[in-house]
Amino acid sequence: MSETPDAPRPNLIRRTVFPGSISRAVTTPLQPSVVYASPDPDALDDQYEGRAKGYTYGREGHPNADVLAQMIDRLEGGEGGIVTGSGMSAVTATMLGLLSAGDHIVGGNQLYGRSLRMLTQDLPRWGITATLADPTDVGAMAAAITPATKLLLVEAVSNPTLRIADMDGIEALAKDRGLTLVVDNTFTTPYGFPAYTRGADVVIHSVTKLLAGHSDVTLGYVLARDPAQRKAIYDTNVTLGLTPSPWDCWMAERGMYTFDMRFERAQANAGHLAQVFADHPAVEAVIYPGRPDHPDHNRANALLNGQWGNMVSFRLKGGRAQANALTRAAPQIAFAPTLGDVGTTLSHPASSSHRALTPDGRAALGITEGFFRVSVGCEPIKLLSDDFRNALDATLT
Ligand SMILES: *Cc1c(COP(=O)(O)O)cnc(C)c1O
Repeated sequence: MSETPDAPRPNLIRRTVFPGSISRAVTTPLQPSVVYASPDPDALDDQYEGRAKGYTYGREGHPNADVLAQMIDRLEGGEGGIVTGSGMSAVTATMLGLLSAGDHIVGGNQLYGRSLRMLTQDLPRWGITATLADPTDVGAMAAAITPATKLLLVEAVSNPTLRIADMDGIEALAKDRGLTLVVDNTFTTPYGFPAYTRGADVVIHSVTKLLAGHSDVTLGYVLARDPAQRKAIYDTNVTLGLTPSPWDCWMAERGMYTFDMRFERAQANAGHLAQVFADHPAVEAVIYPGRPDHPDHNRANALLNGQWGNMVSFRLKGGRAQANALTRAAPQIAFAPTLGDVGTTLSHPASSSHRALTPDGRAALGITEGFFRVSVGCEPIKLLSDDFRNALDATLT
């Protein structure tokens, strides 16, 4: 083996020292490093034993995740939130972190579709079972509890039918029976429903939706009150590798700066649009918690504090043909199964989130072929109203 003599080449491997500056960057630096070099083994001991703050390996934590977590902590009114790679990884880390084989969950029967799937199809393979119950009826939730029940998982406002859970009753039930109350607060956000300050033990977000707000990252977040539960969720997140990339956290942080303004604007737009729908002859029913004809309006009044959110659902007169006509007549409004984008998006549960149900199963929820859910965005309201009036007109021809 002959060694090539040192070529007269510059050293590009040893990293160049990052230039110092007496002036500071205004934005948060994006730190993609997966590894962090420590001075010596004693320093590593100090880090692992919690005597000194230091990062070690990206999957176990990194500055961009911590910056984002602290922003969401401030919104929820807690501390020590954990950022995960998606909303579903937040649900996964919580369930697998807090439960063991033999444990039982009571979940809302209109949870996010993938959460429903996890409870009914995936967790049972690991010996964790679930019963679904109607969260607008605390009696039904109570009746589903068994001696093996450890945890309740609910969303305050259901998707896409916008029913309001009996959160007063459910909070009291969890406390009374010593169960961990987990609230997925994605839909409502802490502005619509301050889940943590009201007393939920664990709060989950899909940061992908309103918090990041631009449909360009998937991220999740978990806030747990009890330090032992927090640690269990953190360790599960790290062990299962559900952790987020610095780039996504940095993007979400950027989105969060305008969350407040986007929320206010989208919410005001939603109120206007609900009226546009109600006034239009093509619409059979409008579902919006701020309307007196909403089935849970009184409860919404008590729980949501006038923060009705940005989601409005409605039922068109007619069936699939009218539904097709609506989306075709509004190509500028993304027909896409998501929510919380800065722009308005439209979803049709019968062909997307609820397609696995039978037509009868959907009908029981009020989800017809004419049912649409609108995630209202921040466009000028005149533009939105005109777009929707035109699209609704097109369903009548
Ligand atoms: C979207 C959503 C999730 C899942 O979040 P992802 O970021 O898509 O994994 C969970 N819960 C609710 C209520 C959601 O809307």
